[in-house]
Amino acid sequence: MIKKLIRRILGKNKKADSPTEPAVIGPKEHRIDPQLLSPNAVRVTQTLQEAGFKAFVVGGAVRDLLLGVKPKDFDVATNATPEQVKRLFRRAFIIGRRFQIVHVMFGQEIIEVTTFRGASSEAAPKDEHGRVLRDNTFGEQHEDAARRDFTINAMYYNPADETVLDYHHGIDDARDRVLRMIGTPEERYREDPVRLLRVVRFAAKLGFTIDPATQEPIRVMAPLINNVPAARVFDEMLKLLMSGHALACLQQLRKEGLHHGLLPLLDVVLEQPLGEKFVTLALSGTDQRVRQGKPVSPSFLFAALLWHQVLEKWNAYRASGEYPIPALHLAADDVLNTQTESLALQRKIASDMRDIWAMQPRFERRTGKTPYKLLEHMRFRAGYDFLMLRCSSGEIDAEIGEWWTAFMEADGPGREALLTRKPKAEGENGGAKKRRRRGGRSKQKATGTDGGSE
Ligand code: ATP
Ligand code: MG
Repeated sequence: MIKKLIRRILGKNKKADSPTEPAVIGPKEHRIDPQLLSPNAVRVTQTLQEAGFKAFVVGGAVRDLLLGVKPKDFDVATNATPEQVKRLFRRAFIIGRRFQIVHVMFGQEIIEVTTFRGASSEAAPKDEHGRVLRDNTFGEQHEDAARRDFTINAMYYNPADETVLDYHHGIDDARDRVLRMIGTPEERYREDPVRLLRVVRFAAKLGFTIDPATQEPIRVMAPLINNVPAARVFDEMLKLLMSGHALACLQQLRKEGLHHGLLPLLDVVLEQPLGEKFVTLALSGTDQRVRQGKPVSPSFLFAALLWHQVLEKWNAYRASGEYPIPALHLAADDVLNTQTESLALQRKIASDMRDIWAMQPRFERRTGKTPYKLLEHMRFRAGYDFLMLRCSSGEIDAEIGEWWTAFMEADGPGREALLTRKPKAEGENGGAKKRRRRGGRSKQKATGTDGGSE
């Protein structure tokens, strides 16, 4: 306790920021359950150690193990160079980019092996705002620890003797459920503004509080995100949205003032009252799927996040006299163009989003062969799930979704019956609105609720 208090008082002491010797914590104290470890991660550390290198499980996996959570993936840190690592494993690939790492493959599982990084040098090339552009030197383990973002992400676990090496009091912070930046927060955000998003993601995902010194600069430094290459922001946003806590993350981004003028996507999402229910439903559905271990598609999620922006533009194009289907495509173009520029939406994701949107008017045509054709669409399931979201949010009549659910589940005669049953269903609920669907809707003022069946 006293130790902790002294540390807090000396919080700004530079020397305390980069200790060279770690605290060594044994299994009785850390209580990590070895069952939660990936046998492949253990194999990698063991192989490296047998070849005479240091090797540890590191980062998010150690944090999760300490919290009793099964890590979703495992990173290993070592003093072996990427070449040395590669030689020790049959299926290992050096991945380039800013810093070389090695992917060691075991079936579906990839263990990411990183060589200890050196201290971020004063001389590292930076942009005019202080963002570090290249920083690829190898270094000592204590330097590698100091380079990591938060104290809870900077611990090393050695499966061989079950010890945790802790250079920055991460274990205390994990116990107190505090997110604390290593070093001086302002400097660390400046070096890499993506950390602004990471702090929010971890706080929301882990339910941790943010240490005041780590929190304080966030609001002021938020605009620095604008200088980060769009692809990196996109990667980090994807992690945030796929964290299983997307809704909490977006709320926290808003709370920290990080959404405004920062990411166009978030401006759109968080400031459109109409779409709020839709987005909330989409995000909580995604969170639920992630937590159940089910796959989620980024394109579905982005299609949902931007749907109300598409609707708005769709309506505008229709009001200016465009036919519904071309109007929808124009709206999709507009939205995708803006977002691709700023968010680096990958082309594949953008084209899947367009498919999901373009399918929506087709759900309204429930006669003849059209529904059968739609069922065969490659992305029918995504389109259908999207339709269900529109129904649940009250954007369109729930009856359409119910009809499609029944149609999907029915056998041949059942489907025929549904196709002919339609007039009766219309009479039963909301008939007046649906009867309009039969004709002349291109003249109707678009509301976004029933668009484009022609
Ligand atoms: P998750 O469980 O969500 O993957 P994680 O902590 O493993 O969380 P990663 O993005 O996979 O997060 O990064 C792995 C580790 O690399 C982190 O724990 C941290 O130590 C380090 N790291 C990642 N990004 C940064 C960054 N921008 N600045 C400093 N350290 C980073
Ligand atoms: Mg990770």
